Amino acid sequence: MTNGAGASLNRPWPTSTTVDNRGNLRFHNNSASELVTTYGSPLIIFDEDEFRTSTREIADAFRGFTIYYAAKSFLSGRVCQLVNEAGLSIDVCTEGELRTVLGAEFSARNVLFHGNNKSASEISFAMTHGVKRYASDTLEDLARLETAAHQTGVGDVNVLLRVIADVKSDTHRHISTAHQDQKFGFSVRDEQHGLGEAIRFVNRSDVLNLTGLHSHIGSQILNQDNFIQGAETAVKLYADLRRSVAPTLCELDLGGGFGIAYHDDEQDLDLVLLAQTLVSVVTDNCVSRGVPPPQLSVEPGRAISGRSCVTIYTVGSVKKAESGRTYVAVDGGMSDNVRTALYDAKYTARLANRAGDSQTVDSRVVGKHCDAGDIVVSNVLLPSDIKADDLLAVPATGAYCRSLSSTYNMLPRPPIVAIRNGDPVVTIRRETYDDLTLLDCELRGTAL
Ligand SMILES: *Cc1c(COP(=O)(O)O)cnc(C)c1O
Repeated sequence: MTNGAGASLNRPWPTSTTVDNRGNLRFHNNSASELVTTYGSPLIIFDEDEFRTSTREIADAFRGFTIYYAAKSFLSGRVCQLVNEAGLSIDVCTEGELRTVLGAEFSARNVLFHGNNKSASEISFAMTHGVKRYASDTLEDLARLETAAHQTGVGDVNVLLRVIADVKSDTHRHISTAHQDQKFGFSVRDEQHGLGEAIRFVNRSDVLNLTGLHSHIGSQILNQDNFIQGAETAVKLYADLRRSVAPTLCELDLGGGFGIAYHDDEQDLDLVLLAQTLVSVVTDNCVSRGVPPPQLSVEPGRAISGRSCVTIYTVGSVKKAESGRTYVAVDGGMSDNVRTALYDAKYTARLANRAGDSQTVDSRVVGKHCDAGDIVVSNVLLPSDIKADDLLAVPATGAYCRSLSSTYNMLPRPPIVAIRNGDPVVTIRRETYDDLTLLDCELRGTAL
């Protein structure tokens, strides 16, 4: 690092993050304190180099695959530009996501439209704007796709049917999607409403082309075997259908869900090994069943966006609970990062403005919301002298933090400050109190 900025930190911190000898956390040439002085607190740092590095790693690992960046993990105009520059495609599941993507001049040709409950008007918007590929979960959705294709007169559209791979994935139940008792996917076993009927529907249609199967087993999965099992189930199904009722199949989308390390005790998935294993599982199964291997795709979200952001908070109060645990309250919380409350996610944190005492205490970082579940980091060792006005940094907040953010308790959302070519640029400004009352027809224009 230049400017004698000091020691690098390991993952999950972005590669460019360093700590100088006084304990200041630095992003390229900018210290956390300087950034907070300029842009206020809390603050989300978006390290564009880290985002680029992740897209490159994924593109290298999954060479030959079509790679759809999962927009829902973190979406903004700038994110779309970076995904576009990296040559990746994108998956969206609502008109709002699609409008953002198209607004950033992303080609509709490189968009896959997902969603278990797309509305007729969303579909028709997508079709008239040139989106040609749709992943479908339900018979109602297929009917809406067909109607919209007729009404908009766009001609043929390609359909991927989402199936349930029926494998156990080692992740939180709310983000596990490969078992029967959840909302996603056609059941392979249900003849009436499941995959069989979906295939009959698409085969009967004069505007829908059945091009692929889709299987996404869940999110934040760190066990490679889960993906291999999911792919094995999916490719067997693919080959059997290709040889029987669905001869037009030519692609298999294996979804996303590649887990990342959020703290020292976790290890990133080896994506190179994973991609190679997926290819051989798919190829072997196709060869032994006598069908040509499909075009493969994946839909990584978190593996691209996860490490790109670090949230900087200011400590407001420190309380020692009877349990012995130290509660460190910061100026944000579940409104900017709800993953801990929602999925029991594990994060780490560190002091960002000074070295602090070498003695550490068992701590829990909590927010400022009126909710006991308002926890940002459940368990972390922090310097015993942590106090009000210290800065605290939480890494790996790129995925599912901004995109799941809220204005709970009428707390304006923090800005996102990109580090671009080493320098800070506001890429999403801080929400204001005026913004918060903008939609309130009774209060409009009267905010204090
Ligand atoms: C959420 C989701 C993804 C992305 O998951 P990550 O864990 O962010 O990689 C990909 N595909 C589908 C269908 C999803 O629902």
